[in-house]
Amino acid sequence: MLALDNATRLMKRLRITWTQVSLDEVACAFGRCPFCGPSAFVRLYADSVGVRCIRCFATAVHMSLGFALRSHVPNLDACSVCELSARGPLAAHLARHARSVALSEYFTDISLGAVRGGVRCEDVQHLTYADASFDVVTHTEVLEHVPDDRRALAELRRVLRADGIMLFTVPLHGRVRTLERARPCAGSIVHLQPPAYHRDPLRGGAGILAFRDYGVDIVERLLAAGFTRAWVESPPKVAWDHGRNVVIARCSDTTGWRGHRQVGRHAGRGVPVGLPGG
Ligand SMILES: [Zn+2]
Repeated sequence: MLALDNATRLMKRLRITWTQVSLDEVACAFGRCPFCGPSAFVRLYADSVGVRCIRCFATAVHMSLGFALRSHVPNLDACSVCELSARGPLAAHLARHARSVALSEYFTDISLGAVRGGVRCEDVQHLTYADASFDVVTHTEVLEHVPDDRRALAELRRVLRADGIMLFTVPLHGRVRTLERARPCAGSIVHLQPPAYHRDPLRGGAGILAFRDYGVDIVERLLAAGFTRAWVESPPKVAWDHGRNVVIARCSDTTGWRGHRQVGRHAGRGVPVGLPGG
């Protein structure tokens, strides 16, 4: 039954992916995937989400996070990790290599903390995990879709241990200041800018509403949420200059990670590092 579910899910993903292919942009290249090692990449359309490793199907966004994870968390096998998705190559990598991993999705029709099909339901604005549960938190392309991101960041800081670290991606658009596009109001959504929807490579459909376009001032929100240091850095580009800048936030001001050398060249004490693009 599980095999059938997986096959059905794979077929759905392939169908969704095929509908997004831009034939003019299709190309192949060889390179290194942080999850698989030497591999080949295919570009399905001109976006970091459209660049995939042919071995694990990771997007360039996943691979950027994977490179940052390798640099900043060299002792992953000793860490408990919280990842805000339950599927995909990053979740699979964490499940294989971390000491423990809590994977979740947000379902609108079951209680927070409940489990469906082996996947726990979590709302990042109201996590059900206990304080100081994790060494590492990761998420990709989630925060811009969260109505109250300040509350979400405070929750993510709460569930991290005193020497914890969070690594994540959001589209940064080359902005300095964050542009609020929409906000929740009395059970509805008020649009401050024309609605923008991002592609959902797993679910397809009309896409997901973006509540904001982040600028590098996202580091100020991280410091306000209780993180001691936060910065933006640029991992190696995957292929065709695609990839995402990765946002990194530490809970403590120590210079190393449990005795390991800190690798990030752009690290600073709460100083935003302006990097172009997402
Ligand atoms: Zn791969």
